[in-house]
Amino acid sequence: MAQQIKCPKCGEAEELIGRPTEEGIKIQCESCKHSWLRDAEPQKCASCGGSDIVKRKRALTQTSRGTQLSIVGFTPILLCRQCDQRMLEWANTGHPVPFNYKSAAVDADAIANRDEDDNKDIKITP
Ligand SMILES: [Zn+2]
Ligand SMILES: [Zn+2]
Repeated sequence: MAQQIKCPKCGEAEELIGRPTEEGIKIQCESCKHSWLRDAEPQKCASCGGSDIVKRKRALTQTSRGTQLSIVGFTPILLCRQCDQRMLEWANTGHPVPFNYKSAAVDADAIANRDEDDNKDIKITP
C-alpha cells in the first residue's frame, strides 16, 4: 500500500524527487531542498498507527561454539511505545533487544506471529 510522502520540513507532497542511494531511497524536496531517507524512520507504527516510535539498539549475534550466542555488534531497531511496550521496558533497563525480536512498529504481522512464549519472560543470552 502506497503511503503519501510529504516533505517533513515544508509539507510539499508533489515536488519530490526520489533517488536510490547506498543508504536507501533518498527523497529531495524541490521546494525547500530538504532531503531525507524515505525508509529511515516510519512516521507511524505499522501495527497501531501511533507515532510514538522510539529507537533502541538491537544485538547482532553470532553462534559460536555450538549453541552459544555471542553479541558481535549493535544495530538500531524501532519500537512502538504501545505495541512493543514489554520489549521497550526490557531495553530501557539497559539490555539490547534480541536480534530475532520482531518489532511491531515496523512489521504489522509481528504481534500476530508472536509465540505464546513471548508472554513469559524474555530470554536473551548475556
Ligand atoms: Zn520541503
Ligand atoms: Zn504501535
